[in-house]
Amino acid sequence: MVEEKLKWMEEELERLKEEGRYVTIRTLESPQGAWIVVDGKKVLNLCSNNYLGFANDPRLKENAKKYIDEWGVGPGAVRTIAGTMKIHVELEKKLAEFKRVDAAILFQTGFNANLGVIPSVVGKEDVIFSDRLNHASIIDGARLSKAKIVVYEHIDPDDLYKKMKEYAPEYKGKRMLVVTDGVFSMDGDIAPLDKLYEIANEFGAIMMVDDAHGEGVLGEAGRGIVDHFGLHGKVDIEVGTLSKAFGIIGGFAAGKQIIIDYLKQKARPFLFSSAPTPADVGAAMAAVDVLMESGELVERLWDNAKYFKEKMKALGFDTGISQTPITPVILGEEKLAQEFSKRLFEEDIFAQAIVYPTVPLGTARIRVMISAAHSKEDLDFAVEKFAKVGRELGVIK
Ligand code: PMP
Repeated sequence: MVEEKLKWMEEELERLKEEGRYVTIRTLESPQGAWIVVDGKKVLNLCSNNYLGFANDPRLKENAKKYIDEWGVGPGAVRTIAGTMKIHVELEKKLAEFKRVDAAILFQTGFNANLGVIPSVVGKEDVIFSDRLNHASIIDGARLSKAKIVVYEHIDPDDLYKKMKEYAPEYKGKRMLVVTDGVFSMDGDIAPLDKLYEIANEFGAIMMVDDAHGEGVLGEAGRGIVDHFGLHGKVDIEVGTLSKAFGIIGGFAAGKQIIIDYLKQKARPFLFSSAPTPADVGAAMAAVDVLMESGELVERLWDNAKYFKEKMKALGFDTGISQTPITPVILGEEKLAQEFSKRLFEEDIFAQAIVYPTVPLGTARIRVMISAAHSKEDLDFAVEKFAKVGRELGVIK
């Protein structure tokens, strides 16, 4: 029996179920990889952000264990009090080198990095220009800052220009921030960062990009979106995550020295929440080393993505506007997407439905996340099952 004061929660959960928006959280009984065990069943994994297969890579695991042996399991406190170990500083240096910027600051997650960075660089007197489809952590960071939030249309530099022109006089002498996802996680499209930077620069605004889905994917050997566009030293702040291509958990901001020095004094998740664990740091060090040695895994990722997308398009599926390995299979109705995902699971494919409010109503989808860990046989298997379920549910002929 639910207590009277919590009845509204029960009603809300019922409503989500009725609308096909209730998310079933599946339990993994194996490490991440191309094939995993979910609820006791071996299935092909098409929904992790483990782009390069690092989440269960022996090189990362070995270094994580070594770091545990040498440094223990916990950092002891927030870094400004007792928790900055030499290894945190070393990882920051390595990430900065990898990203080809001056410096970096670690956070506990990418989400925390956005919550830390945005309110540190703008406040209630200031203005943020934010892409309509920016990630929840950018939206929350922007709200936390209390700055005025001006939303510009998705990947639309003309609209950004128009809005900056309109608001610039009002914010003369105040700070302006332009912020965008690098790769948009639900559609896999890439922000036109070169054009956005030019506009931000013309108005003297700080330019920030969240490269969560660009790291390990775009640029030379996965150096990210800034490297992809050759905008080193121009884009002021790159937020990164260690929880997608890097296969671990953790976040960071990278960019100009002055900004990183400033964030180390001001960013609240840095000042008031403990540092990443030695195991996370050790795994991250190994991940960056692997990428600095060779771009082979990144090439395999792109090769796999191209192969899968071409086959799915040929079958008549709508794979949207993706320019990256993120492959949305757009189905429309929320309930259809849930049913599709359920049927795929029965066919040994783990591919979750993504529904409103994560994506706009009526654009529900199965989001396929291609990985370098998939073999061509795995991808053929996926295509065959998509075709079967797609025909059965009347999505394709
Ligand atoms: N930014 C973007 C664009 C993301 O997609 C995500 C993860 N969904 C995050 C930030 C948060 O990253 P993390 O999982 O490291 O908190």
